[in-house]
Amino acid sequence: MQANELIAVRDVSLGYERQSVLEHLSLTVHTGDYLCVVGDNGSGKSTLMKGLLGLLPPLSGTIERAPELSRGALGYLPQQTRAQKGFPATVYEVVLSGCLNQKGTRFFYSAAQKSAAMMNIGKLGILELKDRCYRDLSGGQQQRVLLARALCAASRLLILDEPITGLDPAAAQDLYKTLRYLNEQEGMAVIMVTHDLSAALEQAGTVLHIGKTGWFYGTVQEFLHSPAGCRFCKKEED
Ligand code: ADP
Repeated sequence: MQANELIAVRDVSLGYERQSVLEHLSLTVHTGDYLCVVGDNGSGKSTLMKGLLGLLPPLSGTIERAPELSRGALGYLPQQTRAQKGFPATVYEVVLSGCLNQKGTRFFYSAAQKSAAMMNIGKLGILELKDRCYRDLSGGQQQRVLLARALCAASRLLILDEPITGLDPAAAQDLYKTLRYLNEQEGMAVIMVTHDLSAALEQAGTVLHIGKTGWFYGTVQEFLHSPAGCRFCKKEED
């Protein structure tokens, strides 16, 4: 792997019990990239995320991750479940729990981890919510808390699965703005699954579109000239 590569997917097929969902996929995520993964429901976006996270071994091909990603440079924001929305802990506790995978066998969080949690709470502009109960917050506020939590784990790469689901348009715009800030100012690479194609095209540098007959991977400009991109532009004009 080259020094600026975080994840290299080479001719990978992914799926379940020999039924492949995605075939012969190749892509590379570099330091500072912003990749949006788009496609219809059931096309294989979450399956790919499981593959990238190392939770689902490829049926064929290889997925290589930079060594630092296994040492905690990767933060993951999963799709929110109903149970998570009712989680009875304070905002500070939820964010701090993002440091769990670095805690090892110690019982207590270190001072450095506590200050990292506070720094990320500040970065996401939710300082005044610090002592509030997570379950009492709005959807947009909860997503900010989860993003601060993911940042405690991530120094190089954030993976987000449908982060704006259930948010009103203003809260979704807020979240996009924060992601862009983290990407542009802090050099955080971002991989985001979204059904919101127009936002993806505004936000991302590269796009992976998973369609019924295959996939497209390239820059936003290249996507707009691809058959799938042209179909999308036509729909927008109608
Ligand atoms: P998306 O995230 O794009 O909506 P998914 O990756 O969730 O799509 O699903 C892709 C396909 O894989 C679907 O046909 C789905 O039914 C199937 N699938 C997803 N998870 C599993 C699983 N755990 N076992 C078997 N099939 C699955």
